[in-house]
Amino acid sequence: MTSESEMSQASEFESDNSDIFDTIVIGAGAAGIGVGIALAHSGVGNFVIIDRGSVGSSFASWPDETRFITPSFPSNSIGMLDLNSIAVGVSPAYNMRIEHPTGSEYAQHLQDLAEFFKLPIRENAEVTQISHQDDLFSVETNDWTILSKNVIWAAGEFLYPRLDGFPGSELCRHTATLTNYADLDGDDFLIIGGYESGADAAYHLSKRGKKVTMFDKDDPWGLDNSDPSISLSTFTYERMRDTSFKENVTLFPENAVTSIELVDGVYELKSEDGQVFRSKTQPLLASGFDGSHTLVSHLFEERDDGFPLLNERDESTKTPGLYLSGPSVRHDNHDFCFIFKFRQRFAVVAQSIASSLDIPTDEFVQAYRDWGMYLDDLSCCGQECLSC
Ligand SMILES: Cc1cc2nc3c(=O)[nH]c(=O)nc-3n(C[C@H](O)[C@H](O)[C@H](O)COP(=O)(O)OP(=O)(O)OC[C@H]3O[C@@H](n4cnc5c(N)ncnc54)[C@H](O)[C@@H]3O)c2cc1C
Repeated sequence: MTSESEMSQASEFESDNSDIFDTIVIGAGAAGIGVGIALAHSGVGNFVIIDRGSVGSSFASWPDETRFITPSFPSNSIGMLDLNSIAVGVSPAYNMRIEHPTGSEYAQHLQDLAEFFKLPIRENAEVTQISHQDDLFSVETNDWTILSKNVIWAAGEFLYPRLDGFPGSELCRHTATLTNYADLDGDDFLIIGGYESGADAAYHLSKRGKKVTMFDKDDPWGLDNSDPSISLSTFTYERMRDTSFKENVTLFPENAVTSIELVDGVYELKSEDGQVFRSKTQPLLASGFDGSHTLVSHLFEERDDGFPLLNERDESTKTPGLYLSGPSVRHDNHDFCFIFKFRQRFAVVAQSIASSLDIPTDEFVQAYRDWGMYLDDLSCCGQECLSC
């Protein structure tokens, strides 16, 4: 299995429909579909991907105007996988002819991949409980109990927004719950959190002539770091140079919001430096995500930062056979929050599971490595760009 076409053929598999799956993947987003394709390529056939909604449903629920910040480009022809691709040889840029897809466009891309690779998917099945006994997992959904030797948790972060953080945060609306910015009433917006989601909200509102005051406890707009997990993306810096952004958005770096109260129909926001800001418009929270891993925290040991502790195969150190895939994967200080980062671990997980089933994996691993889709040497992460 060395070429792209051989890869595609290898994925045409059938589940043997046994009562006990070799693997259950929970979540059919970028991570679940990507790791599912890697499982198929590795030769693991007896698996199922289940999702509480449909394939790509958390992308489909992004605000209409929100676009990918990472660009897609058909760079595969020179062996550099499109940044937004989740599968070897695949390029969203080539398939969709779009550089910065919307969430709906990317959800469609994931659905197309699921169909192309004939992935076994069960939709509208929300996992409510997972237990582990005698080397078997029992995964319960609303109407189905499934047994499996392995579980890959890939349920993401977007559907689990962080809603607390300061007194009165419950009075705000999280940007992850917005359908679009066009229909938002109000002219004066207070935004708490100034990283990518907050900057995205501020950009779309300012384009509509709305005034925005944005707060962050750090200084995301002034950070000088070449790692996009730490600094804002180029796409966002460009947007911040837009005239409407400059005219309509006021930034308050290193000024944490300490409370919000609703007084006679007016929201009163107090910030760390003692200032009070008022608006009749419901404030927007863009303060991040708790993440779905909190639902299965009993099956993982916890790192100091609250993320699951994983071994070098992204497997729980507490529950053998339980893997994590997606943006919550952390190793030391390496953060896999972008697709182009966490996709490099799909094959590591697939190899581990295939090997446990005595399936040879050398060719599979080499093919993924050739595409930059197999990262096992974490010492190469975190390289800084030269500042010329
Ligand atoms: C506004 C915004 C912009 C972004 N832009 C970019 C970008 O430009 N580039 C980039 O690389 N990344 C970007 N990201 C991050 C990227 O979207 C995430 O890293 C990615 O969605 C993670 O994929 P995932 O498969 O882990 O999670 P998701 O895509 O959220 O998929 C998780 C799936 O699990 C399902 N699920 C959840 N709970 C359960 C359950 N209990 N039972 C069954 N199924 C369940 C959900 O229905 C969902 O389909 C952005 C994120 C946001 C919020």
